[in-house]
Amino acid sequence: MRVLLLAPPGAGKGTQGVRIAERYGAGYLSTGDMLRAEVASGSELGARVKSIMDSGGLVSDELMIDLLRERLPAAAAGGGYVLDGFPRTVPQADAAWTLTEELGLPLEAVVLLEVDDDTVTERMLARAAVSGRADDNEATIRNRLAVYKEKTEPLVAFYAAKGILHRIDGSPTIDEVSVAVFDLLDGIAG
Ligand code: AMP
Repeated sequence: MRVLLLAPPGAGKGTQGVRIAERYGAGYLSTGDMLRAEVASGSELGARVKSIMDSGGLVSDELMIDLLRERLPAAAAGGGYVLDGFPRTVPQADAAWTLTEELGLPLEAVVLLEVDDDTVTERMLARAAVSGRADDNEATIRNRLAVYKEKTEPLVAFYAAKGILHRIDGSPTIDEVSVAVFDLLDGIAG
C-alpha cells in the first residue's frame, strides 16, 4: 500500500497513519516526527527548524524535499509507505510525485481526513496535556490552521486531478475512522 494522508493539524493523521502502516505492512513516515526527533537530538538541522515549528510555520520546501529523498527509500523497503505530514505545499507534492515515480513506488491513494476547525482545535488543546508539544497552544494552532488552508489545501485539487483523492469523515471516534479508512484501502489493495 502506497498512500498519503492529507488533513488539517489535529485531524488524526498520526494515529490513523500508524494503523494503516501496521495493517498493510507499509513503512510509516511522519515528517513532523522526523523533525521533532531532530530538535530533540540537538542536531544542526533541529536547531534550524525549531523556531519555525514552534510558531506553526512551514520548514522550507527544499529542506523537506531533501529529507524525503533521503528517508523514503528505507521506509519503503518493503514496497509500501504511509506518508504523514508530507507534502504540505504544491512544490512538495510535485517533487513527491516525481520521486515516487522514479523510485518505482507511485502513490496509489490519498486519504483526505475531513474535520472542522473547532473539532481539530479541541483535539489539539486536549492533546497538549499529554504531548508536551510546544505547538499545541491556542495561538500556534490558529496559525497552523491558517497555513493549512493557504498552503496545503490546494493539494486537494492537485490529487483530485490525478484521480487518487478519497474523502473520509475524520470527525467520528478513532476506531470508526479506522474502519472507514480500512474499508476504502482494502478495496484499493484487493
Ligand atoms: P506535524 O507533526 O505534521 O503537525 O508537523 C509539525 C510541524 O513540523 C509543522 O507545523 C511544520 O512546522 C513542520 N513540518 C512537518 N512536515 C512538514 C512539511 N512537509 N513541510 C514543512 N514543514 C513541515
